[in-house]
Amino acid sequence: MSKSIVTPEKRKEYSDRHKESNPDWKEKHAVLNKRWITNNRERYNQLKAEYRFKLKVDAISHYSGGTMQCAICGFGADLDALCLDHINDDGAEHRKALKCGGRGNSGGTTIYERFKALGWLPGLQVLCANCNTIKAIRLRRGSTAAAQYEIIKAKPDRSRK
Ligand SMILES: [Zn+2]
Repeated sequence: MSKSIVTPEKRKEYSDRHKESNPDWKEKHAVLNKRWITNNRERYNQLKAEYRFKLKVDAISHYSGGTMQCAICGFGADLDALCLDHINDDGAEHRKALKCGGRGNSGGTTIYERFKALGWLPGLQVLCANCNTIKAIRLRRGSTAAAQYEIIKAKPDRSRK
């Protein structure tokens, strides 16, 4: 006996029909989903972690032009040390436009998802944790560490008197 082939179109047609004849399908599915998660917590966490990691891989790949490396220093040995950076430091406006709220409540996944869903917005680059931290400090202080060092070296040290 040959297996009938279910095409994506057929699947959508079936799904649409199912939703039409079950007006409360959303509520029912939410209950079923919640029950499955409760009964399969470990599996769910594993799937969620895989899903998040894949989203991050997609985002880092896109914004690094496939190099999977920091745009400044070229570090690329560990994906966990890479992140997305707003080139023009307009992250807050960006998150607002994406309706993602602050860093705390949206987390990384949501913003990666939105970027992807909206077709990868421009204005972002990939940085490593070091370069990202250095950029943030420089922005706050308004100078490089080397320039700051020259400033303090030029001043007389009053503490030794
Ligand atoms: Zn770097």
